[in-house]
Amino acid sequence: MTDAINIKNVITHSLFTKELDTNGDEPVKTVLSIVHVLREARCCYRCCLRFIGSITMEDYTASEQWIDRVCEELEKHSYKATAINMNAELPVSNMHRDHLLWIHVGDQLALEHHDIRDLKNPFRHILGKCLTSRTGLSMDPEAPLRMNIIIQHEPSASEHLFLTQAQNPVLKIRKVRQKRVWVTAGDGRPVIRQALNAIDADDARSLTAIPPLPVDIKPTLASIALMHASCFVAARYIKLSREYSQTPWVIKGKRLTEHSVSDCIAPVVQRYHRSDAYKFTTAGREDANVRMLGTGRPFYIEVINPRTPSDYLSKEDFEKMESEINQAPETKEAVQIRHLTKVQPGDIEHIKQGEEFKQKTYRALIWMSDVLTDERIAEINVQCSKPFKILQNTPVRVFQRRSAAIREKDIHYFHLERLPATDAKDPANAHFAVLTLTTGAGAYVKEFVHGDLGRTQPNLATIAQIKSADLIELDVLHVDLEWPPNTPNPPPHIVHN
Ligand SMILES: [Zn+2]
Repeated sequence: MTDAINIKNVITHSLFTKELDTNGDEPVKTVLSIVHVLREARCCYRCCLRFIGSITMEDYTASEQWIDRVCEELEKHSYKATAINMNAELPVSNMHRDHLLWIHVGDQLALEHHDIRDLKNPFRHILGKCLTSRTGLSMDPEAPLRMNIIIQHEPSASEHLFLTQAQNPVLKIRKVRQKRVWVTAGDGRPVIRQALNAIDADDARSLTAIPPLPVDIKPTLASIALMHASCFVAARYIKLSREYSQTPWVIKGKRLTEHSVSDCIAPVVQRYHRSDAYKFTTAGREDANVRMLGTGRPFYIEVINPRTPSDYLSKEDFEKMESEINQAPETKEAVQIRHLTKVQPGDIEHIKQGEEFKQKTYRALIWMSDVLTDERIAEINVQCSKPFKILQNTPVRVFQRRSAAIREKDIHYFHLERLPATDAKDPANAHFAVLTLTTGAGAYVKEFVHGDLGRTQPNLATIAQIKSADLIELDVLHVDLEWPPNTPNPPPHIVHN
């Protein structure tokens, strides 16, 4: 190894900076002897600095190797960012080589242990400095853009296996099958660290070379991975069709519904953010054949690994996204959105907590087994004019997803009326009515109407004292949750008036 910089100057400089104790001659002599022993073992000057504990990162200069590849990778993805959180995974052999070198220094100089600087710190410092000057990105461990660099050194990759030969080995390698390939397991860094701390110097000396043999083959840059923290985009959707499921419904690769709400919305959001993927999450759900009207249902999209994070999109960009979704010729009759905006990761808790207490208002077209007179309708409405509770045994249709239990649910508002603009005397209409209901969170409306084989009590038929009732069409009129945060969401006019 050739060092372009005069090692003596660097070491001397380092000695006289504040972080080393330079009172008296003894420490200086010790430090110089350490450097001497390390140089004899063909150690480079940067490792000498690490071994004498220098924290003056400016001293650890290096050539700009790998910086071109790192910059290329950043350019390829063209992330919008001002800072980056850079992490490096260095060759595992560095761990035991440091340890063995220190045993060697101790052998030669009879020294107590002291701190050796981890190779990672100068490495990150040097690469980070180059990166900042080339790209303008500042180094910030809190930055949402994260880069993970893996450096490998094949020739020394299995050197640490000498630790398995120790008298009481801490390191125990086993072969395990992972995705049909046999791989070694049990030699993660923490275990190697433990094994190194446990092995005594004589044991180590008998199993491997001390000082470790110099290596001439340089390590290689194995991979660069870039990942930006997720962004969150929130809005409400209105669904005017009875043929759209909330998300694509796929069983064994086969699509069971042709259209979905998320397909109308999320791909546009993904494209504006140049992201890898997305996750579509809603506050509750309605079945495909149920319309979602009124002010719509709250949802958010987690935008995964965005190249253009939401913070780089303007208010106008969000308006453009919203109108692109709302004017899509194929789907605009079925799905519309409102209030599209970016939200903070902490805000999405609000939508999850809302699950527990939010009220919903429904409108159902129902059929009843008996003819409904105006008097009968009036009687039922009087009977249900105050909020009441129902007991719902887990519905037959959701048995696979929910455990069996009887749950108490609230009906806050109940109002039955004849179909608008129909002739009550026409026998064809006399069995039909429109029911408007406001329920507490988690109530099953379909089951309340048809009774679910008596599993919901009371149900519409028991209340009306008839044989049976059935639900023909259902709309959700209102989901009582303020979303996106600070967006007022008044209930529809028809309720509680
Ligand atoms: Zn070195």
